[in-house]
Amino acid sequence: MVSPMLLASKGKRSPIRDLAEFGAAQAAIVGKENVFDFSLGNPSTPAPPEVNESIRWLVDNVDPVELHGYSSNMGLDSCREAIAQSLNRRFGRQLTKNNIMLVTGASMALNIISFALNIDKDSELIAIAPFFPAYRQAAVAGGNKLVVVPPDTEHFQIDFEALEGLINEHTQGIIINSPNNPAGTIYSEATLQRLADLLTRKSGEYGHAIYIICDEPYRELVYTDEIVPYVPAIYKNTIICYSYSKSLSLAGERIGYVATDNDIDDFDEVWMALKGAAGYAANVCAPVLFQMVVERCVDVQPNTEDYVYNRNLLLDAFSRIGYRFAPPSGAFYLFFEAPFGLSGAEFSDLAKKYNVLVVPAGGFGCPDWLRLSFCVSRQTVENSLPFFEKLYEEARELAASRA
Ligand code: PLP
Repeated sequence: MVSPMLLASKGKRSPIRDLAEFGAAQAAIVGKENVFDFSLGNPSTPAPPEVNESIRWLVDNVDPVELHGYSSNMGLDSCREAIAQSLNRRFGRQLTKNNIMLVTGASMALNIISFALNIDKDSELIAIAPFFPAYRQAAVAGGNKLVVVPPDTEHFQIDFEALEGLINEHTQGIIINSPNNPAGTIYSEATLQRLADLLTRKSGEYGHAIYIICDEPYRELVYTDEIVPYVPAIYKNTIICYSYSKSLSLAGERIGYVATDNDIDDFDEVWMALKGAAGYAANVCAPVLFQMVVERCVDVQPNTEDYVYNRNLLLDAFSRIGYRFAPPSGAFYLFFEAPFGLSGAEFSDLAKKYNVLVVPAGGFGCPDWLRLSFCVSRQTVENSLPFFEKLYEEARELAASRA
Protein backbone atom coordinates (compact mmCIF):
# COMPACT_ATOMS: atom_id res chain seq x y z
CA MET A 1 0.00 0.00 0.00
CA VAL A 2 1.25 3.49 -0.80
CA SER A 3 -0.01 6.21 1.50
CA PRO A 4 -1.53 9.21 -0.31
CA MET A 5 0.53 11.33 2.12
CA LEU A 6 3.71 9.74 0.82
CA LEU A 7 2.64 10.50 -2.72
CA ALA A 8 1.77 14.10 -1.74
CA SER A 9 5.24 14.67 -0.35
CA LYS A 10 6.83 12.48 -3.05
CA GLY A 11 8.79 10.96 -0.17
CA LYS A 12 10.78 14.18 0.20
CA ARG A 13 11.16 16.29 3.28
CA SER A 14 10.24 19.95 3.18
CA PRO A 15 13.21 21.94 1.81
CA ILE A 16 12.17 24.73 4.18
CA ARG A 17 12.56 22.51 7.25
CA ASP A 18 15.74 20.96 5.81
CA LEU A 19 17.31 24.39 5.38
CA ALA A 20 16.24 25.50 8.86
CA GLU A 21 17.79 22.38 10.38
CA PHE A 22 20.96 22.88 8.33
CA GLY A 23 21.06 26.46 9.63
CA ALA A 24 20.74 25.36 13.25
CA ALA A 25 23.53 22.80 12.79
CA GLN A 26 25.78 25.37 11.11
CA ALA A 27 25.08 27.93 13.84
CA ALA A 28 26.49 25.48 16.39
CA ILE A 29 29.71 25.31 14.34
CA VAL A 30 30.28 28.82 12.94
CA GLY A 31 28.19 30.91 15.34
CA LYS A 32 24.62 32.13 14.95
CA GLU A 33 25.78 35.53 13.66
CA ASN A 34 27.44 33.87 10.66
CA VAL A 35 24.31 32.04 9.51
CA PHE A 36 21.79 33.99 7.42
CA ASP A 37 18.74 31.85 7.80
CA PHE A 38 15.94 33.16 5.58
CA SER A 39 14.12 29.82 5.45
CA LEU A 40 11.16 29.81 7.85
CA GLY A 41 8.24 32.19 8.05
CA ASN A 42 8.64 32.40 11.81
CA PRO A 43 7.94 35.97 12.98
CA SER A 44 11.00 37.78 14.37
CA THR A 45 8.93 40.54 15.97
CA PRO A 46 7.83 39.66 19.49
CA ALA A 47 4.12 39.32 20.18
CA PRO A 48 2.59 42.73 20.96
CA PRO A 49 2.73 43.67 24.69
CA GLU A 50 -1.04 43.20 25.00
CA VAL A 51 -0.52 39.47 24.43
CA ASN A 52 1.81 38.96 27.39
CA GLU A 53 -0.25 41.31 29.54
CA SER A 54 -3.31 39.19 28.74
CA ILE A 55 -1.49 35.96 29.53
CA ARG A 56 -0.37 37.32 32.92
CA TRP A 57 -3.84 38.56 33.71
CA LEU A 58 -5.47 35.30 32.68
CA VAL A 59 -3.04 33.17 34.67
CA ASP A 60 -3.64 35.31 37.76
CA ASN A 61 -7.39 35.68 37.45
CA VAL A 62 -8.98 32.71 35.70
CA ASP A 63 -9.71 29.41 37.39
CA PRO A 64 -6.83 27.17 36.21
CA VAL A 65 -9.18 24.27 35.66
CA GLU A 66 -11.08 26.39 33.15
CA LEU A 67 -7.93 27.98 31.70
CA HIS A 68 -6.26 24.68 30.89
CA GLY A 69 -9.31 22.53 30.23
CA TYR A 70 -11.09 21.70 26.98
CA SER A 71 -13.42 24.20 25.42
CA SER A 72 -16.22 23.10 23.11
CA ASN A 73 -14.93 21.92 19.73
CA MET A 74 -16.00 25.19 18.11
CA GLY A 75 -14.19 27.25 20.74
CA LEU A 76 -15.29 29.51 23.57
CA ASP A 77 -18.50 31.40 22.79
CA SER A 78 -16.98 34.62 24.16
CA CYS A 79 -13.91 34.37 21.92
CA ARG A 80 -15.97 33.53 18.83
CA GLU A 81 -18.27 36.45 19.57
CA ALA A 82 -15.32 38.82 20.05
CA ILE A 83 -13.86 37.81 16.67
CA ALA A 84 -17.27 38.21 14.99
CA GLN A 85 -17.70 41.69 16.47
CA SER A 86 -14.20 42.68 15.36
CA LEU A 87 -14.95 41.57 11.77
CA ASN A 88 -18.26 43.47 11.94
CA ARG A 89 -16.47 46.65 13.03
CA ARG A 90 -13.71 46.38 10.45
CA PHE A 91 -15.61 45.09 7.43
CA GLY A 92 -19.23 46.04 8.04
CA ARG A 93 -20.45 42.46 8.45
CA GLN A 94 -23.28 41.04 10.56
CA LEU A 95 -21.58 38.08 12.13
CA THR A 96 -22.08 36.33 15.45
CA LYS A 97 -20.29 33.46 17.13
CA ASN A 98 -22.21 31.15 14.77
CA ASN A 99 -19.98 32.33 11.90
CA ILE A 100 -16.71 31.46 13.63
CA MET A 101 -14.87 28.26 14.60
CA LEU A 102 -11.57 28.42 16.49
CA VAL A 103 -8.89 26.09 15.13
CA THR A 104 -5.24 25.28 15.74
CA GLY A 105 -3.92 27.67 13.06
CA ALA A 106 -4.49 28.16 9.35
CA SER A 107 -2.85 24.81 8.55
CA MET A 108 -5.64 23.09 10.47
CA ALA A 109 -8.22 25.39 8.90
CA LEU A 110 -7.06 24.34 5.44
CA ASN A 111 -7.23 20.65 6.32
CA ILE A 112 -10.72 21.03 7.78
CA ILE A 113 -12.01 22.91 4.75
CA SER A 114 -10.46 20.37 2.42
CA PHE A 115 -12.19 17.52 4.31
CA ALA A 116 -15.46 19.45 4.26
CA LEU A 117 -15.33 20.05 0.50
CA ASN A 118 -14.48 16.47 -0.39
CA ILE A 119 -17.73 15.53 -2.07
CA ASP A 120 -16.53 12.38 -3.81
CA LYS A 121 -13.38 10.65 -4.97
CA ASP A 122 -13.00 13.00 -7.95
CA SER A 123 -13.20 16.26 -5.98
CA GLU A 124 -10.62 18.88 -6.88
CA LEU A 125 -9.25 22.04 -5.29
CA ILE A 126 -7.38 24.67 -7.26
CA ALA A 127 -4.33 26.63 -6.10
CA ILE A 128 -2.61 29.47 -7.94
CA ALA A 129 1.16 29.23 -8.26
CA PRO A 130 3.19 30.34 -6.47
CA PHE A 131 1.36 28.79 -3.51
CA PHE A 132 2.14 27.75 0.07
CA PRO A 133 3.31 24.11 -0.28
CA ALA A 134 1.06 22.88 2.56
CA TYR A 135 -1.92 23.37 0.22
CA ARG A 136 -0.87 20.16 -1.46
CA GLN A 137 -0.91 18.22 1.81
CA ALA A 138 -4.21 19.80 2.86
CA ALA A 139 -5.85 18.88 -0.45
CA VAL A 140 -4.63 15.29 -0.27
CA ALA A 141 -5.42 14.93 3.46
CA GLY A 142 -9.01 15.89 2.66
CA GLY A 143 -9.19 13.42 -0.22
CA ASN A 144 -9.01 16.05 -2.96
CA LYS A 145 -6.78 16.42 -5.98
CA LEU A 146 -4.82 19.69 -6.10
CA VAL A 147 -4.93 21.37 -9.51
CA VAL A 148 -2.40 24.18 -10.00
CA VAL A 149 -2.83 27.32 -12.09
CA PRO A 150 0.60 28.13 -13.58
CA PRO A 151 2.28 31.26 -12.25
CA ASP A 152 2.15 34.68 -13.87
CA THR A 153 5.78 35.53 -13.10
CA GLU A 154 5.38 39.02 -14.55
CA HIS A 155 2.83 40.36 -12.03
CA PHE A 156 1.98 37.37 -9.81
CA GLN A 157 -1.71 38.02 -10.39
CA ILE A 158 -4.28 35.40 -11.47
CA ASP A 159 -3.98 34.04 -15.01
CA PHE A 160 -7.74 33.98 -15.57
CA GLU A 161 -7.57 32.21 -18.91
CA ALA A 162 -5.55 29.35 -17.42
CA LEU A 163 -7.79 29.25 -14.36
CA GLU A 164 -10.97 29.04 -16.40
CA GLY A 165 -9.51 26.16 -18.40
CA LEU A 166 -8.84 24.21 -15.21
CA ILE A 167 -12.29 24.54 -13.63
CA ASN A 168 -14.51 21.54 -14.27
CA GLU A 169 -17.46 19.72 -12.73
CA HIS A 170 -15.19 18.25 -10.02
CA THR A 171 -13.88 21.64 -8.83
CA GLN A 172 -15.10 22.28 -5.29
CA GLY A 173 -12.96 25.24 -4.34
CA ILE A 174 -10.12 27.57 -5.19
CA ILE A 175 -7.56 28.54 -2.58
CA ILE A 176 -6.42 32.14 -2.70
CA ASN A 177 -3.80 33.74 -0.48
CA SER A 178 -3.55 37.51 -0.34
CA PRO A 179 -1.17 38.95 0.78
CA ASN A 180 0.62 36.05 -0.79
CA ASN A 181 3.26 33.71 0.53
CA PRO A 182 5.73 33.78 -1.23
CA ALA A 183 5.17 36.65 -3.74
CA GLY A 184 3.74 39.29 -1.37
CA THR A 185 1.02 40.15 -3.90
CA ILE A 186 -2.31 41.59 -2.80
CA TYR A 187 -5.37 40.94 -4.96
CA SER A 188 -7.30 44.13 -5.68
CA GLU A 189 -11.07 44.45 -5.44
CA ALA A 190 -11.27 44.41 -9.27
CA THR A 191 -9.30 41.14 -9.46
CA LEU A 192 -11.49 39.55 -6.80
CA GLN A 193 -14.64 40.77 -8.54
CA ARG A 194 -13.44 39.16 -11.77
CA LEU A 195 -12.76 35.94 -9.86
CA ALA A 196 -16.21 36.13 -8.25
CA ASP A 197 -17.87 36.62 -11.66
CA LEU A 198 -16.02 33.64 -13.09
CA LEU A 199 -16.87 31.38 -10.14
CA THR A 200 -20.52 32.47 -10.13
CA ARG A 201 -20.77 31.61 -13.82
CA LYS A 202 -18.99 28.25 -13.38
CA SER A 203 -21.01 27.35 -10.26
CA GLY A 204 -24.16 27.92 -12.33
CA GLU A 205 -22.79 25.86 -15.21
CA TYR A 206 -21.93 22.86 -12.97
CA GLY A 207 -24.92 23.17 -10.62
CA HIS A 208 -22.94 23.43 -7.38
CA ALA A 209 -21.11 26.12 -5.47
CA ILE A 210 -17.40 26.53 -6.13
CA TYR A 211 -16.01 28.03 -2.92
CA ILE A 212 -13.21 30.48 -2.45
CA ILE A 213 -10.98 29.29 0.37
CA CYS A 214 -9.46 32.56 1.46
CA ASP A 215 -6.24 31.88 3.33
CA GLU A 216 -5.25 35.18 4.89
CA PRO A 217 -2.74 34.88 7.72
CA TYR A 218 -0.91 37.96 6.38
CA ARG A 219 -3.96 40.26 6.18
CA GLU A 220 -2.44 42.73 8.65
CA LEU A 221 1.10 42.74 7.19
CA VAL A 222 0.87 45.32 4.42
CA TYR A 223 3.62 47.76 3.28
CA THR A 224 1.81 49.78 0.60
CA ASP A 225 -1.43 51.74 0.56
CA GLU A 226 -3.22 48.80 -1.09
CA ILE A 227 -6.40 47.60 0.60
CA VAL A 228 -6.84 43.90 1.37
CA PRO A 229 -10.54 43.46 0.48
CA TYR A 230 -12.77 41.31 2.69
CA VAL A 231 -13.54 38.56 0.19
CA PRO A 232 -16.96 37.38 1.51
CA ALA A 233 -18.24 40.90 0.73
CA ILE A 234 -17.37 40.26 -2.93
CA TYR A 235 -18.15 36.54 -3.22
CA LYS A 236 -20.60 35.08 -0.73
CA ASN A 237 -19.39 31.49 -1.10
CA THR A 238 -16.12 32.24 0.66
CA ILE A 239 -14.62 30.35 3.58
CA ILE A 240 -12.01 32.34 5.49
CA CYS A 241 -8.92 30.72 7.01
CA TYR A 242 -7.30 33.07 9.49
CA SER A 243 -4.36 32.66 11.80
CA TYR A 244 -2.78 34.72 14.56
CA SER A 245 0.61 33.09 13.82
CA LYS A 246 1.91 36.08 11.87
CA SER A 247 -0.19 39.09 12.97
CA LEU A 248 0.26 38.49 16.70
CA SER A 249 3.54 36.51 16.31
CA LEU A 250 1.93 33.44 17.89
CA ALA A 251 3.07 30.81 15.38
CA GLY A 252 3.98 28.30 18.09
CA GLU A 253 0.73 28.69 19.98
CA ARG A 254 -1.51 27.33 17.19
CA ILE A 255 -4.51 29.59 17.09
CA GLY A 256 -6.70 30.78 14.22
CA TYR A 257 -10.25 30.50 12.95
CA VAL A 258 -12.55 29.48 10.11
CA ALA A 259 -15.31 31.95 9.21
CA THR A 260 -18.09 32.35 6.69
CA ASP A 261 -20.66 35.06 6.16
CA ASN A 262 -24.38 34.37 6.70
CA ASP A 263 -25.31 34.43 3.02
CA ILE A 264 -23.01 31.57 1.97
CA ASP A 265 -25.17 29.03 0.06
CA ASP A 266 -26.52 26.27 2.33
CA PHE A 267 -25.15 27.88 5.52
CA ASP A 268 -26.35 25.05 7.78
CA GLU A 269 -24.96 22.27 5.59
CA VAL A 270 -21.64 24.06 5.12
CA TRP A 271 -21.23 24.48 8.86
CA MET A 272 -22.31 20.92 9.55
CA ALA A 273 -19.64 19.76 7.10
CA LEU A 274 -17.02 22.06 8.69
CA LYS A 275 -17.84 20.84 12.21
CA GLY A 276 -17.77 17.21 11.09
CA ALA A 277 -14.49 17.79 9.28
CA ALA A 278 -13.00 19.46 12.37
CA GLY A 279 -13.76 16.32 14.36
CA TYR A 280 -12.31 14.18 11.61
CA ALA A 281 -9.14 16.30 11.57
CA ALA A 282 -8.92 15.98 15.39
CA ASN A 283 -9.34 19.70 15.98
CA VAL A 284 -10.60 18.81 19.47
CA CYS A 285 -10.37 22.43 20.50
CA ALA A 286 -7.93 25.27 19.99
CA PRO A 287 -5.67 26.06 23.00
CA VAL A 288 -7.98 27.64 25.54
CA LEU A 289 -5.43 30.03 27.06
CA PHE A 290 -4.86 31.47 23.59
CA GLN A 291 -8.55 31.61 22.79
CA MET A 292 -8.80 33.83 25.86
CA VAL A 293 -5.78 35.87 24.74
CA VAL A 294 -7.29 36.38 21.28
CA GLU A 295 -10.58 37.44 22.83
CA ARG A 296 -8.72 40.25 24.59
CA CYS A 297 -6.48 41.13 21.61
CA VAL A 298 -8.83 40.88 18.59
CA ASP A 299 -8.11 44.43 17.46
CA VAL A 300 -4.40 44.58 18.31
CA GLN A 301 -2.31 45.45 15.27
CA PRO A 302 1.15 44.00 14.56
CA ASN A 303 4.32 45.98 14.93
CA THR A 304 5.81 45.88 11.43
CA GLU A 305 8.78 48.21 11.95
CA ASP A 306 11.45 45.55 11.55
CA TYR A 307 9.74 44.03 8.53
CA VAL A 308 9.49 47.45 6.89
CA TYR A 309 13.17 48.10 7.57
CA ASN A 310 14.24 44.68 6.23
CA ARG A 311 12.01 44.94 3.19
CA ASN A 312 13.36 48.37 2.23
CA LEU A 313 16.96 47.32 2.69
CA LEU A 314 16.46 44.19 0.58
CA LEU A 315 14.55 45.96 -2.19
CA ASP A 316 17.30 48.59 -2.48
CA ALA A 317 20.10 46.04 -2.47
CA PHE A 318 18.43 43.54 -4.80
CA SER A 319 17.59 46.32 -7.30
CA ARG A 320 21.13 47.68 -7.19
CA ILE A 321 22.72 44.24 -7.62
CA GLY A 322 20.40 43.31 -10.49
CA TYR A 323 18.17 40.54 -9.16
CA ARG A 324 14.68 40.21 -10.60
CA PHE A 325 12.10 40.05 -7.82
CA ALA A 326 8.46 40.65 -6.97
CA PRO A 327 8.28 43.77 -4.75
CA PRO A 328 6.19 42.50 -1.83
CA SER A 329 3.09 44.54 -1.01
CA GLY A 330 2.47 42.39 2.05
CA ALA A 331 3.51 39.29 4.07
CA PHE A 332 7.24 39.04 4.88
CA TYR A 333 8.92 37.32 1.97
CA LEU A 334 11.05 38.48 -0.92
CA PHE A 335 10.43 36.29 -3.96
CA PHE A 336 13.29 36.49 -6.46
CA GLU A 337 14.37 34.73 -9.61
CA ALA A 338 17.58 32.72 -9.69
CA PRO A 339 19.82 34.87 -11.90
CA PHE A 340 21.44 33.88 -15.22
CA GLY A 341 19.11 30.96 -15.91
CA LEU A 342 20.06 28.92 -12.84
CA SER A 343 17.34 26.91 -11.17
CA GLY A 344 16.15 27.91 -7.73
CA ALA A 345 17.69 24.73 -6.32
CA GLU A 346 21.08 25.50 -7.90
CA PHE A 347 21.12 29.03 -6.53
CA SER A 348 20.04 27.82 -3.08
CA ASP A 349 22.96 25.34 -3.09
CA LEU A 350 25.41 28.10 -4.10
CA ALA A 351 24.10 30.28 -1.27
CA LYS A 352 24.38 27.48 1.29
CA LYS A 353 28.19 27.63 0.94
CA TYR A 354 28.03 31.03 2.66
CA ASN A 355 25.42 29.87 5.14
CA VAL A 356 22.88 32.02 3.31
CA LEU A 357 19.68 29.98 3.41
CA VAL A 358 17.04 30.81 0.82
CA VAL A 359 14.30 28.39 -0.19
CA PRO A 360 14.12 27.09 -3.78
CA ALA A 361 10.50 27.57 -4.84
CA GLY A 362 9.85 24.31 -6.72
CA GLY A 363 7.40 23.29 -3.98
CA PHE A 364 5.64 26.65 -4.43
CA GLY A 365 5.17 25.90 -8.14
CA CYS A 366 8.00 28.19 -9.39
CA PRO A 367 11.20 26.12 -9.78
CA ASP A 368 13.29 29.03 -11.09
CA TRP A 369 12.52 31.26 -8.12
CA LEU A 370 13.47 31.45 -4.47
CA ARG A 371 11.81 32.65 -1.30
CA LEU A 372 13.67 34.76 1.23
CA SER A 373 11.83 35.22 4.56
CA PHE A 374 12.69 38.64 5.91
CA CYS A 375 11.11 38.04 9.29
CA VAL A 376 14.61 37.99 10.79
CA SER A 377 16.75 40.46 12.72
CA ARG A 378 17.83 43.67 10.99
CA GLN A 379 21.43 42.61 11.52
CA THR A 380 20.89 39.34 9.66
CA VAL A 381 19.67 41.24 6.62
CA GLU A 382 22.38 43.93 6.83
CA ASN A 383 25.21 41.41 7.14
CA SER A 384 23.86 39.16 4.40
CA LEU A 385 23.92 41.81 1.65
CA PRO A 386 27.59 41.41 0.60
CA PHE A 387 26.91 37.69 0.15
CA PHE A 388 24.00 38.36 -2.19
CA GLU A 389 26.34 40.57 -4.20
CA LYS A 390 28.95 37.82 -4.33
CA LEU A 391 26.35 35.18 -5.18
CA TYR A 392 25.08 37.20 -8.13
CA GLU A 393 28.61 37.22 -9.59
CA GLU A 394 29.09 33.52 -8.87
CA ALA A 395 25.82 32.72 -10.62
CA ARG A 396 27.02 34.75 -13.61
CA GLU A 397 30.32 32.83 -13.71
CA LEU A 398 28.61 29.45 -13.33
CA ALA A 399 26.21 30.24 -16.19
CA ALA A 400 29.10 31.49 -18.39
CA SER A 401 31.11 28.33 -17.68
CA ARG A 402 28.23 26.29 -19.07
CA ALA A 403 27.69 28.38 -22.20
N1 PLP B 1 -1.09 29.78 4.93
C1 PLP B 1 0.00 30.44 4.56
C2 PLP B 1 -0.02 31.18 3.27
C3 PLP B 1 1.15 30.44 5.36
O1 PLP B 1 2.23 31.10 4.95
C4 PLP B 1 1.13 29.71 6.57
C5 PLP B 1 2.33 29.63 7.40
O2 PLP B 1 3.42 29.99 7.04
C6 PLP B 1 -0.04 29.05 6.91
C7 PLP B 1 -1.13 29.09 6.08
C8 PLP B 1 -0.13 28.24 8.16
O3 PLP B 1 -0.17 29.04 9.27
P1 PLP B 1 -0.47 28.49 10.71
O4 PLP B 1 0.75 28.75 11.52
O5 PLP B 1 -1.62 29.28 11.19
O6 PLP B 1 -0.80 27.06 10.60
